[in-house]
Amino acid sequence: MFQNLQDKLDRAFKVLKGQGSITEINVAETMKEIRKALLDADVNYKTAKTFTDDVKLKALGENVLTSISPGQLLTKIMNDELTSLMGGTVTDLETSKNPTVILIAGLNGAGKTTFSGKLANYLREKKGKKPLLVAGDVYRPAAVDQLQVLGEQVQVPVYVNRESTDPIAIAKEGVDEAKRNGHNVVIIDTAGRLAIDEALMKEITAVKDATQPHEILFVVDAMTGQDAVNTAKTFNDRLDFTGVVLTKLDGDTRGGAALSIKSVVNKPIKFIGTGEKMEALDVFYPDRMASRILGMGDVVSLVERAQQQFDERQAAELQKKIRKNKFDFNDFKTQIQQIKKMGNMKDLMGMIPGVGKAIKDVEIDDNAFKPIEAIIDSMTPFERENPDAIDTKRRMRIAKGSGTDVNEVNKLMKQFADMRKVMKQMSNPGMAAKMMRNMP
Ligand code: GDP
Repeated sequence: MFQNLQDKLDRAFKVLKGQGSITEINVAETMKEIRKALLDADVNYKTAKTFTDDVKLKALGENVLTSISPGQLLTKIMNDELTSLMGGTVTDLETSKNPTVILIAGLNGAGKTTFSGKLANYLREKKGKKPLLVAGDVYRPAAVDQLQVLGEQVQVPVYVNRESTDPIAIAKEGVDEAKRNGHNVVIIDTAGRLAIDEALMKEITAVKDATQPHEILFVVDAMTGQDAVNTAKTFNDRLDFTGVVLTKLDGDTRGGAALSIKSVVNKPIKFIGTGEKMEALDVFYPDRMASRILGMGDVVSLVERAQQQFDERQAAELQKKIRKNKFDFNDFKTQIQQIKKMGNMKDLMGMIPGVGKAIKDVEIDDNAFKPIEAIIDSMTPFERENPDAIDTKRRMRIAKGSGTDVNEVNKLMKQFADMRKVMKQMSNPGMAAKMMRNMP
């Protein structure tokens, strides 16, 4: 995410390297580079200019402490300013009403339907809500089918009325249906157009008037850069939406939209889409995004995402098994599946400070787990529970069954044995304390 911008900012900071203090001259030069980096990332010109002027003023006003370098100080100032540029603090989604009505708006292809499914999933799984999805795109039967498929996938019912071609009536029916069936959130997916036109604006405004939504989320493709910002402005002028959803931030996005939207429309970014999977949705935290842009990594997001995927009860059980040295191939497979559910490997690793840059040219194959899973699948239930019983003969059979070769099976067996050993050591409190004491 935002690799190019990261690299350029990095280069801009180099101007200060080796400098003992921040001076009018070196800060001006750094700001010129930063402004260039922002413009290249497709940040709105006015936003870039105001931003660098603010950073410069702050930098010159700060006393450089002997304990930090000018580069570090500037990174900190940049981090604070980028955070405030993107909205400062996280803006929660309103979900307290019963039912809370959420209207989803945007152009075709922005990712409205995908986001509707993701949001339903998020609210059901993470917030314990009982959502209803409403298929309001009457012009494209395929969009209705798509929402139904997603609804099924995330276990959220979808209100559909294929007889009607009236989006306003359907939206109202959807809200009534939610009230009847005790749904506390209604997510209305609406029709888009390829470009903004009067008919679209009239229709979406009419749906808004008819359903009185508590949240209107404008969905926009981050890859479209400045266009995203302009579209947001037009929609906001007409709809006065409550928040922005930036999609496709997993792609080769330059970052302009994420950085400029708040300052142009003065509405917060509430969510970001980072992939096509239903789990690929993140609440937008301006401070974490700022650290990510500055290449400081995003440990907090990484940890949270991990926590969300790992069931506590399951984790406790797993710990018990590890302590008793009973961690087996069934557990191993569950772990692999959970890691895969967290999203794209490269994105996940990129959140670790210092790793993002290091792996930018490395191809990380999301299919790397495939042979491992195939090998585990080819084991019998007995073998999965009793890894120690897997002898040479069994290994040969497993290799054949999984379409791998016996060396691969041997390698996995060895790695698994090593992993078990380390896990056992870590779970022994006496041993853990001893290891801690030996740490520098
Ligand atoms: P709609 O026309 O606004 O309803 O857009 P769709 O939900 O049909 O999405 C258009 C395309 O973008 C689909 O192929 C989606 O899978 C894809 N898409 C949506 N959100 C994301 C995202 O966050 N990342 C990526 N990579 N693709 C996305």
